[in-house]
Amino acid sequence: MAIIASNFKTNHTRKSTAAFIKEIDSFIKSNSIKNEIMIFPTATSLDSFEISENLKIGVQNAYPVEKGSFTGEIGTQQLDEFGIKTILIGHSERRHILKETQKQIAEKYNFYKELGYTIVYCIGEPLEVKKLGLEKTLEYLYEQFENIDTNYENLILAYEPVWAIGTGVSATNEDIKAVHEAIKKKIDKPLLYGGSVKVENVKEICSINSVDGALIGTASWVAEDFKQIIENT
Ligand code: PEP
Repeated sequence: MAIIASNFKTNHTRKSTAAFIKEIDSFIKSNSIKNEIMIFPTATSLDSFEISENLKIGVQNAYPVEKGSFTGEIGTQQLDEFGIKTILIGHSERRHILKETQKQIAEKYNFYKELGYTIVYCIGEPLEVKKLGLEKTLEYLYEQFENIDTNYENLILAYEPVWAIGTGVSATNEDIKAVHEAIKKKIDKPLLYGGSVKVENVKEICSINSVDGALIGTASWVAEDFKQIIENT
């Protein structure tokens, strides 16, 4: 069974999120899909649809607090209202664009781990590190596990090379295999690949032994495409 996750990032309205989720939900039901399907919509859309048991809905981010004075952030007081128990942590856009440090990421991880959340934890190297070869890439990736308890039972990992995210250029199957096998040797958790996964390459990527599914941005935002992605795995 594969895990197929859609990350909306800063896309979709409440209306289009509701329509998307309704369509995917009925597709899963009518096609008896066995794969685990996860969707990470924007926080502002979380009450625009009914949460169905066929889908796991998560947030793309939240602050490691219940509530308080953290302008612009949401905490568990807000997440509890929607029954959210799944969170994406360590995404490269948060690490590189929003400058979240490993210390902040680990703090967030430990907070949500204590609450039993399912955590999809992302790691990935930038192009200049990839160019240095596999050994340096793995060294860089392992640094992203600093202060992260990798034995946590509700942990799902996602290897997302920064240079492959949103670029249309996925890592090669050889690159994915090499990194996934090395990580899997150390950490026995589901490991998704992310980075320009699309209808055309999802089947091949997910058929690699050490790939347990995919985390998808761009190619997952149109329901028709996401349905085809689900069908192709
Ligand atoms: C992502 O945002 O996690 C991602 C993998 O994006 P894309 O599929 O667009 O590369």
